[in-house]
This record gives sequence, C-alpha cells and structure tokens, in this order.
Amino acid sequence: MNELIRKSAAELVELLGSKQVSSVEVTKAHLDRITEVNPTIHSYLHVTDEAALSVAADIDRRRAAGESLSPLAGLPIAVKDNLTTTDAPTTAGSKILEGWVPQYDATVVRRLREQGMPILGKTNLDEFAMGSSTEFSAYGPSKNPWDIERIPGGSGGGSSSAVAAFTAPLAIGSDTGGSIRFPAAVTGTVGHKPTYGAVSRYGLIALASSLDQIGPVSRSVLDAALLQDVIAGHDPHDSTSLPESLGSMADAARRASVAGKRIGVIKQLTGAGFQPGVQARFDESLALLAKAGAEIVEVDCPSFEYAIAAYYLILPAEASSNLAKFDSVRFGLRITPEGNPTIERVMAATREAGFGPEVKRRIILGTYALSSGYYDAYYGSAQKVRTLIQRDLAAAFEKADVLVSPTAPTTAFKFGEKLEDPLAMYLNDIATIPANLAGIPGMAIPNGLADEDGLPSGIQLLAPAREDARLYEVAAALEALHEGVWGKRMMDFAPELKVGA
Ligand code: GLN
Repeated sequence: MNELIRKSAAELVELLGSKQVSSVEVTKAHLDRITEVNPTIHSYLHVTDEAALSVAADIDRRRAAGESLSPLAGLPIAVKDNLTTTDAPTTAGSKILEGWVPQYDATVVRRLREQGMPILGKTNLDEFAMGSSTEFSAYGPSKNPWDIERIPGGSGGGSSSAVAAFTAPLAIGSDTGGSIRFPAAVTGTVGHKPTYGAVSRYGLIALASSLDQIGPVSRSVLDAALLQDVIAGHDPHDSTSLPESLGSMADAARRASVAGKRIGVIKQLTGAGFQPGVQARFDESLALLAKAGAEIVEVDCPSFEYAIAAYYLILPAEASSNLAKFDSVRFGLRITPEGNPTIERVMAATREAGFGPEVKRRIILGTYALSSGYYDAYYGSAQKVRTLIQRDLAAAFEKADVLVSPTAPTTAFKFGEKLEDPLAMYLNDIATIPANLAGIPGMAIPNGLADEDGLPSGIQLLAPAREDARLYEVAAALEALHEGVWGKRMMDFAPELKVGA
C-alpha cells in the first residue's frame, strides 16, 4: 500500500505545501487504491479519474510557478452522490436519476473546485439518503472495511467507507438524521453535522429541507475542521444559509481543550438499549474527560423519547413534497407504458419503476401525514414535539457546554439484519436525530473498539447552534486523550487485509 494514502489530510497539506509531494502523486495514490479496493468495498458509484488528475496537474503547475494557492489545493476528496456535479452523473443512489448529469455544480462542489481539490468520484448512499446501511442504494450496498459482511452505516456509507478504506483522505457527506455521524461511528471515522445553515445546501438533492446539512467526513478532528473551513459560509443561493461566519474550526481544533468545560451526559441516551461494549467505551471516554479537568454533569431530555416518532413524520412529509419533482418530465428516467400513454400514466410508471421500497414507503407515509384530515394529528403534533426537543436541549445547555452520548446504540450490524424491519432500522438514529430536529451541530468521533466484536464504537458531541468551534475544541482534546491511551491513531487499528484481497 502506498504510504501516502494512510496520511491525514493535515499531513498531506503540509507535504503538498512544502513541495515534498505533488498533487498528481497524492491523487494517483488514491486512484490506485480505488482500483484495488473499490470492486470489494463499493464506496464509489462513479470515479472521475481523468478530471481529478487534470486538476492535480494544474495545481502542481501553478505551485511550481510560485502562485499562492488555497489551503487545501491539490488535496483529493470524495463527494456523496447527492450533490450535483456538472462533470459526473448524480444519482442520489436512485434508478430514477440514472445517467442524469446536472447542469450546475452544488455550492460545496464549486468551493472544492475553487480550492483546487481534485474530486476523485461520487460516493454511494441509500436512495435519496433514506436509510442507515446503504442497503437501499439502487446500485448495491457499500461494505464496511473493518468487516465486509457488515454495513458501513448510512445513508453516507460510501463516504465513510471511502475514508476508512483509505481511498480518500476526506469526503463530503450529508446528514438529515445522522447520515454523517452514524457511518462515522461504525467505520471508526470522524463526521460533523454543522449547525443548520452553516454550509450551503444549494445543489444538494433535498431529502427533508428543514433537517438536511452537508458536512465533512475524515479520519481526524483537525482534518474535518480543515474541510469545514473550506465548505462553510454564506451563499445567496440558499435562503437558509447563515449570514455570519462561525470562525475558524481549524483554530478551534488546534486549541484542543476540555479543562473547565461542563460535559453533559444525556440521561435518555445511555444504559439500557446500548450495546455493552459501546457503553463501556463511552464510560471510558467520560473518565478521560474528567481526568483532564472537565466537569461531568447529567442532563435530562425527556422529550427525546418522542424524537424518532416526530422525525419519521416530519422527514417523510418534507420528502414526499421534495420528491414530487421526479416525474419523468425533467430529469432522468422515463417509462412509457403500452397503450394510451397519458402524462399521468407515464409519471406513474416512471415513479413505480424508478423508486425503491424505502422511498415509496416514505412518500406514502408523508403524503398521508400531510393530508387535510390528518395534518394536525400527525405533522402538526410532530412539529410540537420538535419544539419540546429544542426546549430540552436549551435547558441542557444551561447546565453543560457540550452534551455527549454514544453516537449509535450498536456497532456495525450485518447485511440483511434490519432490512425487513423498517422500525429496527429507524432505531439506529435515536441519538443522532435530536440535533437535526433542533438545528444544532453534532460530531461523531471514534472512541475505541467494542469488546464483543472488535468493531469501532463512536461518541457524539453536541453544542448549541453556531457553537461548532466549541465542538471542534472539545472533540480534538478528547481525540488526543484517546490516542494517548491507545498509543496510536484509531485508523491504525483498521485491518488492511480484509479489503482488496
Ligand atoms: N437513517 C436516517 C434516515 O433514514 C438518516 C438519514 C440521513 O441523515 N440522510 O432517515
């Protein structure tokens, strides 16, 4: 294995900046790794090798000419396939968009291009980002590099597995109910869902617009910060984009401090229902934080009991409306039935053939929840619960600077284990959903391997809206505490052998 692919993004930035390696070398090393392991891991739906190498060569030329370049210039990256790209298909993991090449780049993609970051390819996801395992991708699941019989998390299992299998130093994800953080937890990687509005959603194929956020996927907290600093910032194309800057996340990560911080343990998100090995790693992380001078307090969020129920009404309601535009007229697939193909029959046949089972389930649920007789009972009640959850969090942040919980109840489960039971699949999201309902930032970092199965476990950190920098500061400190105990980085535990063999 080429040693360049195991380096962190921060290390590669140093090597590129000091001209010890070229962008072509770094990009090629990752493309070679993709050729080697992607047939097994299936992180990428499309690999854009030629475009990536041409960006890399251009950056190398400009650096050689002494041009002053952007901080991440020449560093390759993978992008989730629900962000529009003009030079590659954008499928959102759905057959209904197969072969569609968008007319415009998402703002985040444009920012990556402006930095001079070669885009390696588009990563796999559950269809329209609905799911927790990538098993709902119309193009087949991605595998977890730690154990290829297990799921890499979802919906962004393509991005998490790419970073965990060393086919990309960084990746972009999107998180509506945990799709950055759950995949991070089960692959031993880092994922950050920024404050709602911190990163432009323009060009993100919307799932639930009031919950969606784009964010970084990486192998370290500093690496996530470097990427967050590049993709964040106001965008006039997104009316929910925050006007102000939230400051430098890289500076916050470099400050790395927990002494004197009040860390709130969410009572409802520990204990029963959490895998013993996950709970044990969580308790150890708390002990490390306390030893480093943090004050551990308990906080009560009673409304979290209703978070999943509220989310699985609000999300389908918004999704059913957002997905109405996939009607065979403007994008992708068109099925023309035999006989008398009226526009209604063409639309129905296209949506019948183009959408998978989870998408159909949510469209039906969402349409029902929004129908006039039931609107108050379902959608209206869910919105009230959302307010209660926001109030619980506001009260908790009176007592604590940062809230923590295990990121997910379990480590990576096996393919097929939850596929036939939608409710079991939805329960994975218990710890991650509240952040989306409240619009606050959440970060998942690895905190070791569970004893039962030797698989990665994750801890989630939450901060009040706009306090993303606080998360980076505390998470970077906790990461250093973990690595101090382990004597190595989390990804140094990752098995190399199980992939590409
Ligand atoms: N598992 C969640 C769901 O299926 C997460 C989705 C997401 O964050 N995109 O809705």
